[in-house]
Amino acid sequence: MPSNDGVLAVARSFRVLVIGGSYGGLSAALNLWDLSRGRLPRFNYAYDGPPPAHRIPIQTTIVDERDGYFHLIGSPKSLACEKLASESWTRFQDIPALKSADFKIIQGTVTKVDCAAQTAHILDTATKLTTTESYDFLIVSSGLRRVFPTVPESLRRDDFLGETRKHTENVRNAHGVVVVGGGAVGVEMAAELKMLEPQQRVTLVHSRDRLLSSEPLPNDFAERVDSILREGGVKVILGQRVVDTTVVDTESNQPTWRLTLGDGRQITTGHVLSAISRCIPTSTYLAPQALDETGYVKVHPSLQFSGNIPNAEHHYAVGDLAAWPGIKRCGGAMHMGHYAAMNIHQQMLAEVRGDKPSLKTLNPFPSVIGLALGKKAVTYTPDEGTRDGEDLLTSLFGDDMGNSNCRNYLKLSEACQA
Ligand SMILES: Cc1cc2nc3c(=O)[nH]c(=O)nc-3n(C[C@H](O)[C@H](O)[C@H](O)COP(=O)(O)OP(=O)(O)OC[C@H]3O[C@@H](n4cnc5c(N)ncnc54)[C@H](O)[C@@H]3O)c2cc1C
Repeated sequence: MPSNDGVLAVARSFRVLVIGGSYGGLSAALNLWDLSRGRLPRFNYAYDGPPPAHRIPIQTTIVDERDGYFHLIGSPKSLACEKLASESWTRFQDIPALKSADFKIIQGTVTKVDCAAQTAHILDTATKLTTTESYDFLIVSSGLRRVFPTVPESLRRDDFLGETRKHTENVRNAHGVVVVGGGAVGVEMAAELKMLEPQQRVTLVHSRDRLLSSEPLPNDFAERVDSILREGGVKVILGQRVVDTTVVDTESNQPTWRLTLGDGRQITTGHVLSAISRCIPTSTYLAPQALDETGYVKVHPSLQFSGNIPNAEHHYAVGDLAAWPGIKRCGGAMHMGHYAAMNIHQQMLAEVRGDKPSLKTLNPFPSVIGLALGKKAVTYTPDEGTRDGEDLLTSLFGDDMGNSNCRNYLKLSEACQA
């Protein structure tokens, strides 16, 4: 039956369940929403052909442990800057793009997925009750489990703002701050702290002789990061493991810590921030057959599950949780969400028409990275090599660690169109 805009309405409806409402999950949910309404997807760089001819009724449920969308990339800075913090967490109920009866948001933790029955068990944060949600298509996008201070501990926006206030005061009032771990998070954390609190003594300690030692990046990138940190006033200590951390003064309001390094050197400091915690996939709710040996979800290039599980073709993984080679990045998560949306839409159409879907396949990600280091950004791409500069910071991250760029790309502030 054609509607006013000439788009045919499909009689059957589909339930889509998205686990994780961040870059990957929202990209999948919103691009799929566009396609289901007979419009081009909002990313629209990989979709072929005219807008879809069918309007497909879908009910999308998004489950997240947090009560909103959190701009994770900005975490090292927003945890130490109240203004940025306030802008970087938007409750799902305040996101215009999700304001429709066709989107249901649940704040809770998915504890188990039954791929055969196509159901998920959700521990609701508010009621503490476990409910069961059925789905036709599942998109898992719950990323990696990270701990404070890489990410906030809070799961509610209001608590997060309180957490930020406390963290900012701790950092500001401390007699020196030591960041332990010179990976991507540690270098950003050290640089941002030094920029926000220029009078503060900030030291970065890394166990290897090269920063970013576990990333597949060339030495000149790591060296550029090192020199920008030093130029910005961060003291960088390489090739030393912290072998002991002891509180030496608990009497005053601000405790003092003594760190002992592998070579016997000691550093006395007012605050220690660990940036070395291992990130663990959040996939514990899935059957082991769906996962590789490290807990990432095995996928085909279509992003459908490739493990030996029932109804695998109705299960998709996107973002950090997917076992996909390359550096885990927010751009990659959104790209995957876009592809999952297009493929699920194709499957829905095929089910309605009774034919075979034509699925898009993802290419391997090149080793690409962009880091915000105070006033400058440093980037690496295989084509352009290592670059840095204040102009790069502006184009990549704006003045809010990329928050507006991501929000605008996802069109979160645009009203949900029926
Ligand atoms: C400090 C830091 C800085 C970064 N900087 C950059 C950068 O500059 N550029 C870049 O491209 N990338 C950067 N990254 C990487 C980027 O943030 C990730 O690649 C991206 O967040 C992955 O998105 P995602 O949607 O897969 O998962 P996430 O963004 O991790 O989102 C997962 C969501 O799932 C929810 N969740 C988890 N478990 C459950 C569960 N069981 N039930 C329900 N919900 C659940 C979480 O609450 C969360 O909202 C950075 C990462 C960090 C930590």
